[in-house]
Amino acid sequence: MIETKFNQYHLSDELLKAIEKLNFKNPTKVQEAVIPIALEKNDILCKAQTGSGKTAAFGIPICELLDWEENKPQVLVLTPTRELALQVHEDIFNIGRFKRVKVSALYGKSPIRRQEKELKQKTHVVVGTPGRVLDHIERGNFITDEIKYLIIDEADEMLNMGFIDQVEEIINELPKNRVTMLFSATLENEIQRLSQKYMNNPKIIEIEAEAKRTDAIEQFVYKTGNVDKLEVLNNVLVLENPDSCIVFCNTQERVNAIFNLLGKNNKAFEKIHGGMEQDERTQVMQRFKKGAFRYLIATDVAARGIDVHEISLVINYDVPWEKETYIHRIGRTGRRGTMGKAITLVSVKEGRLFSDIEAYTDKKIIARECPTVADVAALKSAFVEKLLKKPEEKIDKAHDLTKEITKIHINAGKKTKMRPVDIVGTLCNLEGMTAADIGVITILDVSTFVEILNNKGPQVLKELQTRNIKGRLRKVTLAEDKPVTIARKKPIRRFY
Ligand code: AMP
Repeated sequence: MIETKFNQYHLSDELLKAIEKLNFKNPTKVQEAVIPIALEKNDILCKAQTGSGKTAAFGIPICELLDWEENKPQVLVLTPTRELALQVHEDIFNIGRFKRVKVSALYGKSPIRRQEKELKQKTHVVVGTPGRVLDHIERGNFITDEIKYLIIDEADEMLNMGFIDQVEEIINELPKNRVTMLFSATLENEIQRLSQKYMNNPKIIEIEAEAKRTDAIEQFVYKTGNVDKLEVLNNVLVLENPDSCIVFCNTQERVNAIFNLLGKNNKAFEKIHGGMEQDERTQVMQRFKKGAFRYLIATDVAARGIDVHEISLVINYDVPWEKETYIHRIGRTGRRGTMGKAITLVSVKEGRLFSDIEAYTDKKIIARECPTVADVAALKSAFVEKLLKKPEEKIDKAHDLTKEITKIHINAGKKTKMRPVDIVGTLCNLEGMTAADIGVITILDVSTFVEILNNKGPQVLKELQTRNIKGRLRKVTLAEDKPVTIARKKPIRRFY
């Protein structure tokens, strides 16, 4: 068999380097199908599941095709949720890192002014949720004249969430002469209608969900009968004692209730739902990805598209209302070659709903007896011990990519008329530095952030302590990502 590699697409060195550092050895099926066609600037209608590698399937060709010199946005990616917008933002940023691709994320419940300022700078790619994107277009912040590529991600979810009118309004603001790619888990009628109306003779690609994906997930059900579900959840958690776990609920109220009962005073627990401020949601997801806590109590905002490494257990505290949601939820585990486990708690009332799911999934969901008092007593101390222990940090998928990049902070910005050319000029005058060693430059009002590539950060940092930038010595420091501090009361006492 011929080994397929990314080399076959004749991508630029900057992209190939990022792909290598992200440890993408071979293209996934969807990438094999989409990348060559997208590079030829064809419209694409693609049926693909989340987890198939579809972000890179469009991310790689758009980063390759976009013109770095152009200051106005050239690519718009629409996603149904803010979490997905942030993830796609991060993925494209990583793919385009060595090409210095600037990516902006626009989503609601986050200060509009901050996004407006970002849009005033050079931006190649805009990733956003429909409402906020439209808002920025209407306010004149987001200039769409130069958009050459539109990607509608998770289009079926866009329909489910009622965003389709906004999506159509946005499309009507874009130049007609563009490439449109639509990704969706289903190609239902409404998706077909959209594609006929707004796409130009699209190539249709259907990637069947790989059976392997659920093969890597063991599925169990506990019929809770008349026993309080919370008690069963407690017991199941003790029995399973997972390293990393999401507990899904159907409503925000339920997430709050469970969190208040189990996790409020316990650092091992966090919650996420659509009623929380976006900054807090973002922080919680980032910390979960890093493995800062073990248990995430969540609504379905965390079910679709969200890629967290090594979640060992997913629990459906509530049986989801939609059978597809079940697949999305359990798909958070058993990823990237690791085995996962999914457990669903089913009350008497939820029996029918669960039968529909059982009929829908191709794999048997094994019924288990609820844990007994004796089971729990035997394992309680091991559970509490782990709960009090700091979890092991998870290695970020972009770890190899970021380790040779240093972000530095310069204490001067737009107010002192700092421009990218000033930074590039100074840096290229340092011995051994060329433009290829400079990554993304972000100039804010009174600060500037610069990425130094190829392990040259420490040297640059040292030399800039004694070098003028734009005629003056500036304070130059390492730009650390601020650690998140969430106020906590006393540590765990609640669990048993
Ligand atoms: P997505 O379906 O875009 O959410 O991607 C799922 C996961 O697969 C993400 O963690 C990607 O970083 C990862 N991924 C994408 N393409 C590849 C590839 N060619 N090889 C290995 N991992 C990949």
